[in-house]
Amino acid sequence: MKIVIIGSVAAGTSVAAKARRNNEECQITVYERDSDISYSGCGLPYYIGEESIERDNLTPRNPKWFEERFNMTLKTGHEVLSIDSKEKKIEVKNLETEEVFKDSYDKLVVATGATPLLPPIAGIERENVFTLRNVQSADRIIDYIVEKAPKKAVVVGAGYIGLELLENLENLGIETTVIEKEERAMTKMDKDMSVYLEDYLTKKGVKLLLGEEVAEIEEGAVKTRSGRTVEADLVLVCTGVKPNSKLAQEAGVKTYSNGAIEVNHRLETSVDSIYAVGDVAMAWSRINGEPLYVPLGSTANKMGRICGDVITGGNLRFKGILGTGIFKVFGMAVAQTGMNEEQALERGYDVEVIHNIKPNQTAYFEGSSEMVIKAVADRRSGKLLGVQILGENGVDKRMDVFVALISSGATVDEFFHLDLAYAPPFSTTKDPVMYTGMILE
Ligand code: FAD
Repeated sequence: MKIVIIGSVAAGTSVAAKARRNNEECQITVYERDSDISYSGCGLPYYIGEESIERDNLTPRNPKWFEERFNMTLKTGHEVLSIDSKEKKIEVKNLETEEVFKDSYDKLVVATGATPLLPPIAGIERENVFTLRNVQSADRIIDYIVEKAPKKAVVVGAGYIGLELLENLENLGIETTVIEKEERAMTKMDKDMSVYLEDYLTKKGVKLLLGEEVAEIEEGAVKTRSGRTVEADLVLVCTGVKPNSKLAQEAGVKTYSNGAIEVNHRLETSVDSIYAVGDVAMAWSRINGEPLYVPLGSTANKMGRICGDVITGGNLRFKGILGTGIFKVFGMAVAQTGMNEEQALERGYDVEVIHNIKPNQTAYFEGSSEMVIKAVADRRSGKLLGVQILGENGVDKRMDVFVALISSGATVDEFFHLDLAYAPPFSTTKDPVMYTGMILE
């Protein structure tokens, strides 16, 4: 059997590794148009802002390592131009020599990821405007900072990538303003939660402009639609991504209106023998089964492993996602999973909401700080629909317990009975997760 994989970052390399672990006989070829493979996209903001993080930390593996470790062929600098699904052939271009050749497959995996969305902003093509997606895009930002020593920056978009970049630009002494067209930072959260984040950032001295849309980028400044001018000699556009699905679409593969490829629990697309994984594919909600596009490395890795198993005859199946995310900005951890209140109401749930402010551990211990938890539950089923948490310490642990509870279908009355680990440096006798359940019961 011949497996061909297009794309070799989080999803593509996971497919290859799992397929080889399952099956020593199959032939595996991976085509990647970039020169870097299997890198940590998640570390890119820190590569820009922290001296201790080197390029090699993000790109620990090269094609030779993969070829030797997994007995496969991995060709970087090779772009797949088209797919002929009837003949089961692809057309590939060697970007260095410009040679175009054909290859064949029995199973084809599309792991082509996503590309930053560029909003219609006049002047977005200027040399001081950047997006951040891969290691080379981070290199370009670093080179610009080293060469031009910008003093002021604007980050367009107050999502997690924009806010991680904010922190890292401030680390470098670049005064940064964040401009967000919605009325809140982190639009995945409800306003009554994002307000804690906004207050925190404002107290840190961050200039955060909400409800302002960037209209134009000029020499040394950014202009918003409302007529405000913000000085900036560096602009970073962080306004989301779109799936790289054109190649698959042209081969007849079904996609959603945002371009994400439709897959089933075996990660099969609508076209025979073609699979899709990672940021190019649409996932679905584990809560209500509706399509859910939350492109993250965690999901890309998972889908990749499952797909590698499926195409070699294994029984793993994709179960969907909750859309769980976490990030840190300065000292604040921000996490959310499942539905927020607005989404739950829109979907007609009988919504119960609680806000719970609790210390992460016994107050007399160093590291104790309060976290704010908002939980959204459904009165009819007695189950959680989603959680949002902000705080300095212990946010990740509580979020992961909530994720486990939602995923296992637990009702809120079970939370108090969890036998969670307790000692003063780690928690309180009744953990914030237990309190949340006690209030919701
Ligand atoms: P990609 O990483 O996009 O890789 C797809 C590859 O396919 C690309 O290298 C592309 O060049 C190649 N390709 C596309 N078309 C072709 C073609 N025709 N021929 C050959 N090759 C092709 N996720 C988290 O879970 N946690 C985080 O903290 C986090 N932080 C992030 C921070 C930043 C700044 C960024 C940019 C992303 C972050 N992510 C995070 C998201 C995570 O990086 C992505 O979800 C993950 O990289 C997706 O992997 P993928 O393999 O599906 O796609």
